[in-house]
Amino acid sequence: MKDEELTPHLEELKRVLEGKVDEETLLRELDVYLNSYKVSAEAAKRGIIRKYGDGETGFVTAESIIKKIGDLKGTEQNVDIIAKVIYVENREITARGAKKSIVSGILGDETGTASFTIWEDTGLDVQKGAAYAFRSAYTKLWNERIQINIGNRGRVEPSDMRIDLPERTYSMDTSEAKIGDLKEGMGNVTVTGRILSVETRNINVKGEPKTVYSGMMADDSGKVQYSAWNDFSLRQGETVCIKNAYIRSWKGIPQLNLGDRCEVSRVDDTFENIEDGTTRKTIGEIVSIGGGLDVEITGTVVDLRQGSGLIKRCPECNRSVLNEECAAHGKVVPVPDLRMKLTVDDGTGAISAIVNRDCTERLTGITLDAALGLAKARGDGEMVARSMAEVMMMKRVSITGNVMSDEYGPMMIVRRAREERVDIEAEAGKLLDAVEGAL
Ligand SMILES: [Zn+2]
Repeated sequence: MKDEELTPHLEELKRVLEGKVDEETLLRELDVYLNSYKVSAEAAKRGIIRKYGDGETGFVTAESIIKKIGDLKGTEQNVDIIAKVIYVENREITARGAKKSIVSGILGDETGTASFTIWEDTGLDVQKGAAYAFRSAYTKLWNERIQINIGNRGRVEPSDMRIDLPERTYSMDTSEAKIGDLKEGMGNVTVTGRILSVETRNINVKGEPKTVYSGMMADDSGKVQYSAWNDFSLRQGETVCIKNAYIRSWKGIPQLNLGDRCEVSRVDDTFENIEDGTTRKTIGEIVSIGGGLDVEITGTVVDLRQGSGLIKRCPECNRSVLNEECAAHGKVVPVPDLRMKLTVDDGTGAISAIVNRDCTERLTGITLDAALGLAKARGDGEMVARSMAEVMMMKRVSITGNVMSDEYGPMMIVRRAREERVDIEAEAGKLLDAVEGAL
């Protein structure tokens, strides 16, 4: 690659790395990647950004830039996404009285999937299964689902980057499924459940008013969020059979999509206990699905990770802060809080669990006041985490909450927690029986 061909890549790197790396170094790195490693320009840029970007936050900055789907927040104004097209359709819409063609579908990378819409004619024939760089895109959050948009400032380019989508079962057969068993990638699925809530929202899509219908539905195996662009006249409390829906996940949480081919019929409600909507699962099951709403698991605490104990939060945005400095709000007077980051194992797998103050106080018996007192007496907060570890390690807990997945695996945001008291006598009796049975 000649020098002038390097210029746009160099400019992009400078933009992403915000001048943290000098031009000479970037040119040298580009040269090594392109000419010695013989990788594509995209791969070279990613490699360089990974190397020089600031680790944990990745290479995401306020200005721009390349993000993984799983890292999108739905508020990006100018972001680049390199992903594979999983599903694509060309549609005609009427915008400001004129007919126009748009391209929409589903994009995926290793971290998740998101819907996309290209609002301007790019002259590009977007192919299913191919990878593209979506440049200068903007994102929206609709129904907790990320939508990637290419407007008149954006562009779409074919990319030679290899993108490995997570292995998912992809079924094209019409199949009846329980809500608790729904998985990413399922198509033509039939579910029967009670509508728990209905929300109608009018949104503006590029100057065109659109109505979206969404809510929660549940059967006796679990709860799922549904969404539809068409009005199926769903009513709270009624039980419906939905045919030909498809499942897409957001951060591992399966969501039921009622597309154009969907059929809805009313059926007799035979469900009893679904108000609670909690699904009991093993961690192994949840790992294979990727996530879920109101999942309950029981396991043993095997680790209390860094970031547990007494923490400080920004009073504006509630983000945890270090050194009284919020990434979004600068210097702040932080408020103290308690949190635990646990690793819970049930023998079928392990899951990360984020435990809020309320549940932390209940499980550990250490209140925020007590923690503050302890920290003050010792001159630092370390002791709080250590005391919590003493109480929590190897404790059996039942935790309930929503589970999401990212590159580090599944994580539960714990809403409800309790200690599972093991009945030692009964356990010992069972063990004895087992031993005697083996003799
Ligand atoms: Zn803040």
